[in-house]
This record gives sequence, structure tokens and C-alpha cells, in this order.
Amino acid sequence: MTRSSSTATATATAARVRAWVRGAREATRPVPRLKAAALARRWAELPESARTPAQLVGRHAVGCEGTHGVFPKCDFTCTPCYHSADANKVRVDGGHTVAQVEAQMALLEELRGPHGHAQLIGGEVSLLDPDAHAETLLAMRRHGREPMSMTHGDFSEDYLRRLVLGPDGRPRLRRVSFAAHMDSLMRGRRGLPRPRSEADLLPFRRAFVEMFRRLRDEHGVRSYLAHNMTVTPSNLGQVAEVARTTPPLGYDMISFQPAAFVGDQRRWKEGFREHTSDDVWAEVERGMGTRLPWRALQMGDPRCNRTAWGWLVGERFVPVLDDTDPRDLAVRDAFLARFGGLQVSNTPPSVLVPRLLRAVAANLGVLPLALGWLRRALRRSGGVRALVRARGRVRPFTVVMHSFMDAAEVAPAWELMERGEVAEDPAVRAVQERLGACVYAMAHPEQGRTVPACVQHSVLDPGENRELRKLLPLVEVRQPVA
Ligand code: SF4
Repeated sequence: MTRSSSTATATATAARVRAWVRGAREATRPVPRLKAAALARRWAELPESARTPAQLVGRHAVGCEGTHGVFPKCDFTCTPCYHSADANKVRVDGGHTVAQVEAQMALLEELRGPHGHAQLIGGEVSLLDPDAHAETLLAMRRHGREPMSMTHGDFSEDYLRRLVLGPDGRPRLRRVSFAAHMDSLMRGRRGLPRPRSEADLLPFRRAFVEMFRRLRDEHGVRSYLAHNMTVTPSNLGQVAEVARTTPPLGYDMISFQPAAFVGDQRRWKEGFREHTSDDVWAEVERGMGTRLPWRALQMGDPRCNRTAWGWLVGERFVPVLDDTDPRDLAVRDAFLARFGGLQVSNTPPSVLVPRLLRAVAANLGVLPLALGWLRRALRRSGGVRALVRARGRVRPFTVVMHSFMDAAEVAPAWELMERGEVAEDPAVRAVQERLGACVYAMAHPEQGRTVPACVQHSVLDPGENRELRKLLPLVEVRQPVA
């Protein structure tokens, strides 16, 4: 080899190394550039009322996402039902679902950044053929979305296996995320078509988790499971019991939705608004036997969402932050200022470990604050001994309440927002603030924008479902003449 050719080889190698280092540095940025840009955009869009020290939207997350107009059909008859009256007159079509979801996810990726949590929703997801369901989840992942399938939970173990395992019997999905909506207002569950009480549903809540446990034991497929419940005056008194009995079954999250006047008017009952969000939250706290601090961290508007993040030690909930302790609030402020947007989920260990090391190395000054928090967190957990005693039964846990608005509130507020007008009426302006801080976005690729789920359900669903009736008419199956 001549000297000039060996110099050229060394130069090329050095260039390759430099490019690799640049690539690695970029890939392990604590907050990926595109995410940082999406967060900045979201923060700039937030109404002034939502820019509080507790706000996570625009500083750490962009919020949740959901699909719409993809399989507007359900085999239950619940009261209330958020589907519009035309929903069940549309055919479930796997090809249409996959294509629509793909387009919606592409827009979400473009507008809201490379990572997100998106719900596969818009009807009963298990009415989708398992292959189409799996294909849809994979399409969502391709666009950086961590999908959660929303279901009434009344599907067979065989369906779950056909969804998760490929034709060769090996997992095509290594992890799945489901939210099972189970409450006594629902009608049509096999084995319990008309529950008399929430307690009647306990075996069904348990059986749902056990299906996923067996899937993990036999095929190594991990799952994240949420339990959802609609709350009306008729079951408010049983919320505490659900909050007490559901977490030990193995769910990772319990979520409560006070009923709203939205969707199919034939399924509305008087009295949905007799109780307040405080009443529902108090019942959840009574059931869990502890205060659930939610004011330290806020997703969007507090009139829409409350969340208590923490962990279970055995059956005891321990909050990650105590919203009455100024030291915990200082930890929150430092975290959001220095680590806000840190991308942890959907990240392989080879990227995550160096990313975390970089984040920590650049912020060693917060170590005393972090150690103080750790001490308090240990104390709240009952001390090291309690943790050791409960080993194997310590796991992250989240409590959520999401309060949809009534269609009659949303429509006038949205009409003004579409014209770029801020309402003079304080009540309508309050709705506009909530919509402006919405953390539940639905994508409209044909318009290149997202809308709040409240707007989707209150204003847009009826027209969309009328169109879907024409596009995907129900096929009448004629029985052969004997
Ligand atoms: S969907 Fe409605 S209730 Fe939920 S966060 Fe958005 S505006 Fe608030």
C-alpha cells in the first residue's frame, strides 16, 4: 500500500468515526430535537390559564391521541354511549381501518413529534378481525405511537392469541396495551348481560387480567392494562368498591369518567351532572384508603383531567409527589426545568442507558434534591423493610379521572374558535380554555390538523358516521332458502 492510499484510508475511517459519534450523540440526546420542537409548539398553543408550574403539556409531554371514524360499531348497548346514533349502522372493515389509522398516525407524527401514546378507539376494537387489529397496532408503532386498544373486554382468549401470535404461533406483538371498560351501566356482556351492581363484574375484571397473565407466562408477551369505568349517580356509591377491588387484580391503571351528555341522545339519562368531579375523586380516594394527590402534576386543564402517579406497595398506593409538600414541588420544578421532555418510553436499552447517563451527568447539581425525594419516597412507602416484605408486589400504578364535556357546551365554543373568536361569555370561554389545553387529540389528515376528542364526539362524529354509512354500508346477508 502506498503512503497516499493509506492516508486516504485513515481519513475515510476518521470521517466514518466522526459521523458515528455525531449520530450517536444525536440519537442519545435526552430530548430528541423533533420532540423538543413539538413540545415548544404545544406550549405556545396553550391558553394562559393552563401554563402553570404543574403543567406537563408542552414541557414534558404533548398529551394523548385517539383514532376516529375507523370502526364505529359496538355489540353492547350501554347508557350512556358516546357513539353517535349512526355508529352501529356502519360495517367494520379491516382494510379501511388500517389505511385510515395509518394516515391519522402519519399526521400525528408530523404535528406532535416522533413519540406518542395513541388509543385505538372509535368502536369496539375486538370486532376487528385479529389480523387487521394486529396490522393496525403495527402501523401505529411505525409512526412512533404506543397504541392502546380500547375494549369492553368481552372477547375470548382465542381472539387475544390470534391477535398477538402470528400464523407460525410466535408473537408478532411483543407487548400489548389494553383498556377494558367495565361498569354496571353496560349491557350485553356474555355471562352478565345486565349487571345489577359493580361487584357483579369483579370475576370479569379478574378474568380479563388473567388472560394476559397466561399470555406472558406462555409466550413472554408483556402487557399494560387499564380499567375504565363511567360514573353516573346510579353507580357513584360503588366507585369506592371498584377502586378498592380492581388494583389488586393486576391492572396498571384505573380510570374513571364522569358521564357527559355526548353521543347518542337516546342513551342519555337525567342526572349525569348531579355530582361533581370532586365527588367522584373523593369516592376513589375512599376506596383506595388514601389521599390521591393530583395537583403537583397536571395534564392539560384540571377541569378535564386529574392524575395521581405512584406505585403500589402490596395494596397501598404511594404517590410519586405529595402536592402539599413544598420540597416535592421543588423536585417537580427542578425535574421539569432540567429533564422535561426526557424520552424514556419506546427507547431500546442501547439508546436509553447513554441517554439517561447524559441527562444525569449534565445535572449533577440536583442530586441533593433527588436524594431528599428518595428519602421521603421511601418513608411514604413504609420504609425499606416494608418494601422488602412486599417484594414482587411493588409496581407502578396510576389513577386517572377524565371528565368529558357536554355536546351542548362544546358546540358553541368550538364554532367561535373556528372563527378565531374568544367568547365573551365566561362559561363559553371556560370551554374554549379547556379545548385549547386538550390532551386528547384526534387527527384529520384531510385538513392537516388535530381536534380535541370532545369536538370530535360532540360536533364531528355525526357527520362522519353519516358518510361512513355510505362508504361502508352494512351488507345484508340472505339466509339460504331451505
Ligand atoms: S377531550 Fe375534552 S375533556 Fe378531554 S382533555 Fe380534551 S377538552 Fe378536555
